[in-house]
Amino acid sequence: MPGNQTSQAIQALKVHLATVADLRATAAVLRWDQETYMPARGAAGRAEQLGTLTRLSHDLFISSSTRDLLVAAEAVLDRLDPDSDEAALVRMTRRDYDRQSRLPAEFVAARARAASLSTQIWREARRRNDFPAFRPALAEMVDFARREADYIGFQDHPYDALLDHYEPGMTSKDVDLLFGRLREVIVPFVRVIVERGRPVEDGFLHGEFDIAQQRTFGITVAEAFGYDFSRGRLDESVHPFETSFHPDDVRITTRYQRNYLPSAMFAIFHEAGHALYEQGIPPALARTGIGRGAGMGLHESQSRMWENLVGRSRPFWQHYYPILQDRFPLLRQVGLEAFYRAVNRVQPSLIRVEADEVTYNLHIMLRYELEKRLLEGALAVGDLPDAWNERMQTYLGVTPPTDADGVMQDTHWSSGSIGYFPTYTLGNVVSVQLFEAARRAHPTIFEDIGRGRFATVLGWLREHVHRHGRKFLPKDIVRRAAGAELTPEPYLQYLQRKFSEVYGVTLEEHARRSS
Ligand code: ZN
Repeated sequence: MPGNQTSQAIQALKVHLATVADLRATAAVLRWDQETYMPARGAAGRAEQLGTLTRLSHDLFISSSTRDLLVAAEAVLDRLDPDSDEAALVRMTRRDYDRQSRLPAEFVAARARAASLSTQIWREARRRNDFPAFRPALAEMVDFARREADYIGFQDHPYDALLDHYEPGMTSKDVDLLFGRLREVIVPFVRVIVERGRPVEDGFLHGEFDIAQQRTFGITVAEAFGYDFSRGRLDESVHPFETSFHPDDVRITTRYQRNYLPSAMFAIFHEAGHALYEQGIPPALARTGIGRGAGMGLHESQSRMWENLVGRSRPFWQHYYPILQDRFPLLRQVGLEAFYRAVNRVQPSLIRVEADEVTYNLHIMLRYELEKRLLEGALAVGDLPDAWNERMQTYLGVTPPTDADGVMQDTHWSSGSIGYFPTYTLGNVVSVQLFEAARRAHPTIFEDIGRGRFATVLGWLREHVHRHGRKFLPKDIVRRAAGAELTPEPYLQYLQRKFSEVYGVTLEEHARRSS
C-alpha cells in the first residue's frame, strides 16, 4: 500500500484534474447539443461558450498549479506499482502536460476561432461545390497545423507531432510501413473482385424502410451488444458520432435514410461499439484524464469490430435476419445469403464514409499522402483538387465529378484535424488482431454471436481493453491484449478470406493470371 505522503500527493493531483475533466465534459455536452437539438441561430453564441470553456480548461491544465502538483506526485512515483491507476495517472498527465504546455494560449484560442469559421466556410463551399471559396480558409488551417508541429517539436517529420495527438506513440514511419503493406495486397485484391468477382445484387436495400422501425431495430441490437441505455441514449445528427461525458453518460447518434437501410443501421452498430468502450471504463478512472479511450485508432478498432466483424458476419445475420424481415416485409422474399452478400458488397466509390471494408483503407491512404505533402510544402493547397482526383483514379479507378464529392467531402481538414485520418485504418487493422485474440480465448465466439449472444466478445474486450482506459499507450494495450505487436497480417487474411468467399475469387489466382 502506498504511504500517507504518497496518497496525499496523488489525491491532490486527482482533485485538481477533476476540475479540468469537468470543464471538458461540460464543453462536450454543449458540443453534443450543438449537433443534435440546438436551433440553427444558436451557432454564434455557442461558439463563444465553447471558446470560453476551452480556454478555461486549457489555462487550468497548463497552469503552475498543475505543474507543481505533478512534480509532487512524480516524487512519489517510484513507490507505486507501475500498473496501478495512480502511476498511470501521473505518467499520462506528464505526457499531456508536456504536449499542451508547448502551445501558447493565444495560438490555441486563435486556432479555435479560425477552425470554427473555416468549418462554416467549408460547409457553404461544399454545398455550392466551390473549392476556390474554401481554399484560403484551408490554407490557414494547414498553416496552423505546421505551426502546431513546430511548437510541439518532432524528429523526422512534422506529421509525427500531429499524429501523436490522435494516436499517442505512433509515427509517420510506422504508418508508412503499415500502409505500404496494405496497399500491396488491397489494390490488386480490389481489382480482382471488380474484374472477376461474382456480381452482388443489393437493389433491395434501396426500398422503403420505415424510420421508426429502423430505430427500434438499431436499439434492439445495440442493447443486445451490451450498450446500457440507462447510461446512454440514441439521437439524430447530420454525421453519426459517439460522445462521453462520464462512463455513466455515453451517447450516440445516427442519421436515417428512408430509402437505404444500411446507413442508419450500421452507423448505430458502429457508434454503439465506441460507446461500449466508454461505458466499460472503470468508475475509478472517471474525472481523471485517463478515464476514456486510449487513442482514436483503438477507439475505431472497437467500433469497426462491432460494425464489421460482428455486424457484417454471417452468424450475426443467421440470428437477426428473421427479426429484420419481420420488421421490413420487403425483405421477406430476399434470402439470407443474398442479404449477407449485399451488406458486404465491394464497390470502388467516391465517398469514404460509404465505402465497403475492402476499399475503405484506400480512401485513407490517399488523404494521408496528401496531408503529408501539404505539411512538407510539397503540395500547394490550390493544387489539392487535381492531386486528389489523380489519386482517386490510381487507387479506386474513379474520378469525382465534383470537388464536393471529392476533396471537400470530409469535415476534418476544415476543422484543422490534420493527422487524424490514419487512425481509421489503424482501427480496422487492430479490430481483427483483437478479435482473433478473443477467438483464441473463446473458440465458440461465432456460435454465441449466431445465437444473438455477445457477452463473450464484450467480456473479453472489457477485460483486455476497456478496463485500462487511457492508462497505457494504445500500442501497449494492443500488445497486452493480442499477445503480439501491431501487425496488418491478420487483417489482410481476414479480408481475403471473407471477400474471396463472397466474390468467388482469390488474389493468388489474379497473381497467376497476370504474371
Ligand atoms: Zn468511429
